[in-house]
Amino acid sequence: MFRGIVFDLDGTLADSRLDFAAMRTETGCPEGTGLLEFLEHLDSDTERARAHSVIHKYEMQGAERATWIDGAESLCSLLVKRSMPFGLFTRNSREAALLMMESLGIPTPVLVAREDAAAKPDPEGLLHIAGHFELDTAEMLCVGDFRYDLEAAANAGMPSCLFDPTGDSPHAPLADFVINRFDELAQLLFGDSP
Ligand SMILES: [Mg+2]
Repeated sequence: MFRGIVFDLDGTLADSRLDFAAMRTETGCPEGTGLLEFLEHLDSDTERARAHSVIHKYEMQGAERATWIDGAESLCSLLVKRSMPFGLFTRNSREAALLMMESLGIPTPVLVAREDAAAKPDPEGLLHIAGHFELDTAEMLCVGDFRYDLEAAANAGMPSCLFDPTGDSPHAPLADFVINRFDELAQLLFGDSP
């Protein structure tokens, strides 16, 4: 049914325990505004640079202590085994994302990070990954844990799957599929478990 996957990184494959509350306090970003959107709308370059360095500091700390989300590692191994291509599209910096990929050993050659494309919910990164694998967006599945992932998918014409480990995500109505655990994704993709 699907011929390729795009994963979000933070909160989907990896848990870096990013302290968004502390990041908001330290940057002055109000609740309800995305950090990257906040950054973009700051008036002065100095303020932007300062807020950027705060975000970078937290992202790198998070990347260093990141762990696999339960079930994500075996799902990735299954994708490799079944030759199902997958890429990563993240709002994190390339440096932080690479550090996470390296320390966890996430087996994908395709990473679209903050510097590489407009941030989600813009679909640019999804279109890039689909192009890389020479697949149509409609043949792929975008898997993420947040509204931005699902909105980017909708904007790219790509089916979406919400990873909702607690089962109470308010974003579920935006998703084509909802999973609580990764063996459900294996089931959805291949009709079996990892
Ligand atoms: Mg996420």
